[in-house]
Amino acid sequence: MNLVQQLAQTDRTVVGRELHQFAAKLYPICRSITGNGIRQSLKMIQERIPMEILEVPSGTQVFDWIVPKEWNIKDAFIKDSTGRCVVDFKKCNLHVVNYSTPIRAKLPLSELKKRIHSIPSHPDWIPYRTSYYKEDWGFCLSQTQATSLPEGDYDVCIDSSLSDGHLSYGELYLPGKVKEEVLISCHACHPSLANDNLSGLTVATHLAELLAGKTHQYSYRFLFIPGTIGAITWLSRNREAVTRIRHGLVLTCIGDRGTFHYKQSRQESAEVDRAAAHVLKHTVASSTILPFSPYGYDERQYCSPGFDLPVGCLMRSVWGTFPEYHTSADNLDFLAPESLAESLHVCASIVDVLENNRHYLNLVPFGEPQLGRRGLYPSMGGTAPESELSARLWVLNLSDGNHSLLDIAERSDLPFGLVNATAELLLQNGLLAPVDNDRC
Ligand SMILES: [Zn+2]
Repeated sequence: MNLVQQLAQTDRTVVGRELHQFAAKLYPICRSITGNGIRQSLKMIQERIPMEILEVPSGTQVFDWIVPKEWNIKDAFIKDSTGRCVVDFKKCNLHVVNYSTPIRAKLPLSELKKRIHSIPSHPDWIPYRTSYYKEDWGFCLSQTQATSLPEGDYDVCIDSSLSDGHLSYGELYLPGKVKEEVLISCHACHPSLANDNLSGLTVATHLAELLAGKTHQYSYRFLFIPGTIGAITWLSRNREAVTRIRHGLVLTCIGDRGTFHYKQSRQESAEVDRAAAHVLKHTVASSTILPFSPYGYDERQYCSPGFDLPVGCLMRSVWGTFPEYHTSADNLDFLAPESLAESLHVCASIVDVLENNRHYLNLVPFGEPQLGRRGLYPSMGGTAPESELSARLWVLNLSDGNHSLLDIAERSDLPFGLVNATAELLLQNGLLAPVDNDRC
């Protein structure tokens, strides 16, 4: 049974609800690129999949970067001159610029304003801001709230710490029949943001659960890492494993109601690029293929020239292009259960293509084999679905040992699942033979 068939055993509405519920559990945690927030999130993922949590000390050199100090935060607030709390970190963790250094001060409004970030075009949303690599502090408020603060002195507190500790990331390795690997990577470093961060985490976790319970050809490696520094850290510590990566996907922003976008790897026509494009064309209503660019999520690191790995990025709405991006409006309501379920289905379909993309040899290549004698050709015109007969003829014709099933699916414009099932049927009927030493 392939992954899509396995997934189809559960009603898609139920799958969507489960994915959304897991995102809702993770949502309140104040994550960052280091610290207890990401650690706690990884532990929650670990309760579902047998993942390792690795800790890399602050100060470790990783290529051109250094693992930063660990950031933790207990509380933060702004109180007005009457002692009333006007901004409370406990109500929304986006209120504090992520990675803010600790501060306790009394400031006049004019000084406080210099530390406040807001979004004038969306006056009720709170922005998400970070200052990872420059020690600084600040608050994020809705524009409505920021402009309504009366003159006066404010009591400002950020009870955070920035000290030597560790960078944490999660890694799950699922051995397959061969050592060659498929990499699935997602970032886990954003605080209460749903589409950007949690959608990838939930879909990747569920995909790992599906794969953990079955035999597969490839080995699979799932990474749950802080963006940028996490990918760089993993790459620097796993030079040998990197050489075994044959296909990879970065999952991000895959839970909103937008249409799918797939950003190609730097190689542009790697097998995973073709598999993703094919699956999207045949399984969803609308999708767009984007060429590689050296900006985006962790595909930037995997596709850096020193590695040039075949790793693409699957998204629904593209990061940075939807107004809710990096704001408090990227919340659980922005995440649609049916979108999460559909994204998981697309990921499973891509895995199925990669797993089954084999080469076969037509054993009766001189003229067409007589399919009717084998019950594979309609004895009366129009009795077999046109696509099934078409698939049989395409698979037979192109199975010369040089064309893979994905080549055949692309050229015939038939769905890979049908082409693969057809190859199985022809194999059972003695018309095809698998090519030895195929792929791996
Ligand atoms: Zn982001």
